[in-house]
Amino acid sequence: MKTSEYDIIVIGAGVAGGVFAASQPEDKKILVIERDLTEPDRIIGELMQPGGIKALEQMKLGHLTDGIDAKPVDGYKLIMGEDSFTIHYKDVEEGIQGVGLRNGKFLTNIRQELEKRPNINLIQGNVTEIIQEDEIIKGVRYSNPLDELVEKRAPLTVVCDGPMSFFRKKLSKPNKTVSSYFMGLVLKDLDLEYPSLGHMIVTGESPILVYPIHTNAYRILIDYPGDKPPRMGSKSIEKFKREVSAVLPPEMVASFEKAIESDQVKVMPNHSMKAQAFRMQGVVLLGDSLNMRHPVTGGGMTATFADIISLNKELANANFSDPESLELAIQSYYEKRSESVETINILANALYKVFRDHDLKEAVFEYLQRGGEKSTGPLSLLAGINRNKKYLLKHFFRVALQHPLHFITHPRKQMRLYKSAVGIIRPILKEEERPAIV
Ligand SMILES: Cc1cc2nc3c(=O)[nH]c(=O)nc-3n(C[C@H](O)[C@H](O)[C@H](O)COP(=O)(O)OP(=O)(O)OC[C@H]3O[C@@H](n4cnc5c(N)ncnc54)[C@H](O)[C@@H]3O)c2cc1C
Repeated sequence: MKTSEYDIIVIGAGVAGGVFAASQPEDKKILVIERDLTEPDRIIGELMQPGGIKALEQMKLGHLTDGIDAKPVDGYKLIMGEDSFTIHYKDVEEGIQGVGLRNGKFLTNIRQELEKRPNINLIQGNVTEIIQEDEIIKGVRYSNPLDELVEKRAPLTVVCDGPMSFFRKKLSKPNKTVSSYFMGLVLKDLDLEYPSLGHMIVTGESPILVYPIHTNAYRILIDYPGDKPPRMGSKSIEKFKREVSAVLPPEMVASFEKAIESDQVKVMPNHSMKAQAFRMQGVVLLGDSLNMRHPVTGGGMTATFADIISLNKELANANFSDPESLELAIQSYYEKRSESVETINILANALYKVFRDHDLKEAVFEYLQRGGEKSTGPLSLLAGINRNKKYLLKHFFRVALQHPLHFITHPRKQMRLYKSAVGIIRPILKEEERPAIV
């Protein structure tokens, strides 16, 4: 017998909450509460890897990227100084593609989808509290646009309040770090040799990404290392303009200079975090509120969709009238989810650090440039198509050991390379292997 108006309450209609709600069966009554239903203009979540597209298709939601002037992304061009080469998703698997889009337009598509569903009620409200009674989460309190405090209850609350999550502290032990910031602008009127490739520029000390997001518009994300945000005064902007122009390929410089002179630079922190969930009934964390990785590989949405698929699998067999049955399903989701997201997390965090180490950066560039499995292997992992951790580690160590003879010819350099590689991967693996529940 149902005692609540809803089966599920979702906090946040972002990428995670919106797609999760849209992927639920029609017999589930769902309330989705979103703080701000206007279309955001953000620099996050704009490059979807082929693994993410496949996951959306698996959930019968592939159409969510339609009708928003999204652009196909066929692979990457890697650029280091004068040297460059291309790698293509089709060499990993025929027919796969990524997509570049505007995050706000994608969210609008998702929210319109929710509005079409008779079993889903999408409302604007700021969730201020999670109701906990007898150790069980029973629902939420939120303030509506009239500033009234409203209470809603459901057997399951799905917390998808994003990277700056307010609720994760109550529900988990987060271990959040900021490794850098991305500074974002839109480049227009670019004349590129490969317009449908993502461009990874590793010429300078930190990576720069450029990829198409709609007609005549490319997103540029410039990494600013460290845990303090960049200064945005006019002198700092001028210095930044000079430094970035010096490492950009010549065909991008004019467009970049125009963009920085006319538009506001958007800045976002790049977090890494694998929260360890507390054992609690009636609630589950999903999306960036639970897990984040460096966005250099554009893996966040792919990981989120993998989590939605894992959670749905567990919920399909749960009895929503029985809190213990739901708790078991959620526990199983937390425990098994790493199988489908750990390679995305490890690769993202490791690759960012590799790009910040001069020798390793050169080694990885040279390795990928050799082609064959040396480029398709790592690309299959980056695309979110291959989720095999051993395969990832095999390539990682091959990068560091690609010239074993160097132990004899350049012993110091080779030892340093190997030590740096181990120094990068060991803490990342340790972090990934922390128990999912505490
Ligand atoms: C700089 C940057 C670039 C990135 N680029 C990519 C990329 O190219 N590709 C990729 O796959 N991933 C990328 N990511 C990661 C990706 O954006 C995230 O993994 C993804 O957006 C997570 O979705 P989410 O739903 O958890 O968070 P969000 O999409 O941020 O959604 C959270 C939602 O919750 C709402 N909310 C918050 N608090 C409340 C509350 N109290 N009450 C009601 N609603 C609330 C918010 O308004 C928001 O709509 C990037 C991340 C960063 C930082």
